[in-house]
Amino acid sequence: MTAARIVGAFMMAGFLCATAVAAEQPAQDVEADQPTLSLEDLDALLEEDAIEESIASLNSSEIADIGGMALVLAFAFFSFTRKSVVLKYVSFAASIAYLGFYKSNLVSIVNIFAILQGTLPDVRHSIPWYLLIGFTTVSTVLWGRLYCGRICAFGALTQALDRILPSRLRIEPPAWLDRRLVYLKYIILGAVLLYFVATGDFLIYRYVEPFWMFTLNGNTVMWTLLAILLLATVFIRNLYCRYFCSVGAALGLISNFTVFRIKRWGECQTCQICETACEWGAIDGPKISVTECVRCDDCERLYHDQQKCVHWIVLRKKPLVQTAAS
Ligand code: SF4
Ligand code: SF4
Repeated sequence: MTAARIVGAFMMAGFLCATAVAAEQPAQDVEADQPTLSLEDLDALLEEDAIEESIASLNSSEIADIGGMALVLAFAFFSFTRKSVVLKYVSFAASIAYLGFYKSNLVSIVNIFAILQGTLPDVRHSIPWYLLIGFTTVSTVLWGRLYCGRICAFGALTQALDRILPSRLRIEPPAWLDRRLVYLKYIILGAVLLYFVATGDFLIYRYVEPFWMFTLNGNTVMWTLLAILLLATVFIRNLYCRYFCSVGAALGLISNFTVFRIKRWGECQTCQICETACEWGAIDGPKISVTECVRCDDCERLYHDQQKCVHWIVLRKKPLVQTAAS
């Protein structure tokens, strides 16, 4: 309890005593309908004061950090709701530039270590961090791995690279292999957590995730591993995200509870247009794997395209067939 709270509690106790004494006085001393404060009311008032005090004491650079984070998250969400390719790439650019190179603020396995240990950062000095973690958790529960599909600077970088690199270099792992390799990231997540619980060594993050690259601060082994990873990503798109990312694995686990899932038509059973278009191997016939889908919108744009989606084409042709038959 802070000093202000202790003083407040004493004041409250004094106030209650005075109220009690006053209650024993003749009725003319106290107005019958005078409102009284409960302990909870006073606690809430003190809390409000503390929050106002904290907000008032934020300096301009802290306010800019909060504003920057809120803007990037809000724009990413806006681009998601618009289902626009152009806005998605603008959102990628903002994530890479601001969250990546400028702030180096990405969700990391280290955050999972901190949550496990209960050593969360002080709210007053880490509002942008809480915004990022809060947005990531809530959006994952509501829509799935939106963080991966739009906000993570490393994911944004590899998705942007994928657009620039010539597609003839790409190798698509066969579906049977892809379906098995996706489990690797869960094994890595489990192994790293076990290692951390056993040793308390959080520096393991340097060898299981490449997010440190945005700080441009790594040793020879780290840079070598990163170079191998990026080179391999030229050939296998979204390699790290699909098979190795422990944060992606953790978000994939949360995605099992996703509320607003992508709808499918009856025709998806046989049509494979979306399945072929999905760059994340998340579509298998009529089913979308919520743990692998990053809500990139590619299939949803097709899904609503009345010229390409078989569902709409069949619907358009139905009246003609019925007319011909009658
Ligand atoms: S899978 Fe990992 S690296 Fe890829 S976008 Fe998600 S958090 Fe980022
Ligand atoms: S194409 Fe569809 S299923 Fe595949 S990742 Fe994007 S939104 Fe998810």
